[in-house]
Amino acid sequence: MELNNLTIKRADELLRERQVSAVDLTEYYLKNISEKNRGLNAYLEVFEDAKLSAVEADSRRALGEDGPLLGIPLAIKDNILIEGHIASAGSKILQNYKAVYDATVITKLKGAGAVFLGRTNMDEFAHGSSTENSAYGVTRNPVDTDRVPGGSSGGSAAVVSGDMAVASLGSDTGGSVRQPASLCGIVGLKPTYGAVSRHGLIAMGSSLDQIGPLTKSVDDAEIIFNIIRGMDPMDSTTREYPLGRDIPGKMKLAIPKGFVGKGVAPEVLENFNATVKRLQLKGYQIDEVELSNIKYALPCYYVIMPAEVSTNLARFDGVRYGLHVDGANLMEDYSKSRAHGFGAEPRRRIMLGAYVLSAGYYDAYYKKAQEVIGLIKRDFSKVFSDGYSAIITPTAAGPAFKIGEKFSDPISMYLEDVFTVSANVTGVPAISVPMGFAERDGKKLPLGFQIMAPHFREDILFKIGRDAEF
Ligand code: GLN
Repeated sequence: MELNNLTIKRADELLRERQVSAVDLTEYYLKNISEKNRGLNAYLEVFEDAKLSAVEADSRRALGEDGPLLGIPLAIKDNILIEGHIASAGSKILQNYKAVYDATVITKLKGAGAVFLGRTNMDEFAHGSSTENSAYGVTRNPVDTDRVPGGSSGGSAAVVSGDMAVASLGSDTGGSVRQPASLCGIVGLKPTYGAVSRHGLIAMGSSLDQIGPLTKSVDDAEIIFNIIRGMDPMDSTTREYPLGRDIPGKMKLAIPKGFVGKGVAPEVLENFNATVKRLQLKGYQIDEVELSNIKYALPCYYVIMPAEVSTNLARFDGVRYGLHVDGANLMEDYSKSRAHGFGAEPRRRIMLGAYVLSAGYYDAYYKKAQEVIGLIKRDFSKVFSDGYSAIITPTAAGPAFKIGEKFSDPISMYLEDVFTVSANVTGVPAISVPMGFAERDGKKLPLGFQIMAPHFREDILFKIGRDAEF
């Protein structure tokens, strides 16, 4: 039977109809991984116990259990803890760190009977937009192996796009689920801040981080989201997920005025406009709307995020976790372990973060950025209270770029996040769905369409996402 490019929905049908078993599915992906992963470097490790979990899922089904993820093979980003498995966050400093507990999302997925195939490559500590910052080598984009898959969840995007997993989990602090989804031609969801527990996610920027699914369809993103969401006593920022709200019959969508244009590839604009037209034909009213502070989301993010990064990475001192390098005294132990363990990008962010938090600069940078974020939040609330159900933009300003193209120019790399970060600083949910292609070197490179909705209105994202889906 043809198993290629299965969605969760289709795989679940096949499992229910007993046309395949979880073991068959798992073997199919393990074979694909063994053929493709050497070239793509998307998995850092394939789990030896994957087959065993598949056997277990099959016996649960044989006993009458059912569920949309029972026996579905998934991949997990290397910064989400699975008990007994290494979680290195793409860093040398955690090279041999074995998780001693399951992240809450993992507990939920295990409960649902998902099979974990392995852990996926990522930019070190999720710092980046290309996966080039991994201590374990770059991941290649399956669509064009000379190009990056995006980042930081590049491995999680590449395994789905390259058919080495049905779906995967990533984390999104400034766009790390949506931008790689866009560059690899799949769907990526960043849930509302507080909708999904961060317990067991190696923290990057704690006020911004959310775990989200990367999938082949909007339906699949919804399936995973419905399993992983919900209040968790281990993460005090989570809330009981509100259910049962109505979706407006005729929706109005907002395009931030003057924001989508500058520095954007022509094919991105063409496909964005074409998607807008398609949605209009389906009855959506789409207007350009004033969101005058959205352009400040990127500079604010690059103040707040490093501040939180420097704080979160302070715990990696060579004593409690991971790599230890001996020095003459304790201070030297710390500095040598950190100097050996962290790559260039985390070091850059630790220094930036320590600077913006230091006495005398805190008010000028950190506090100012928080104030401006307050204005962006106010703009968003105004648009939503004016009757707009969502704000739409492209996900990224261009298609996948060549490996090495932006690596030595951090600013051009940071500009990859221009459309995605506003959802993180405001906490609203956002999804990227495929919206066509840009041709480069004779290859059709995928592009993404981003939708942002009010807090806890993922249902609106799924509805518009399905209508926009290419
Ligand atoms: N590309 C962004 C950054 O480098 C976002 C990273 C993320 O979401 N983890 O910070």
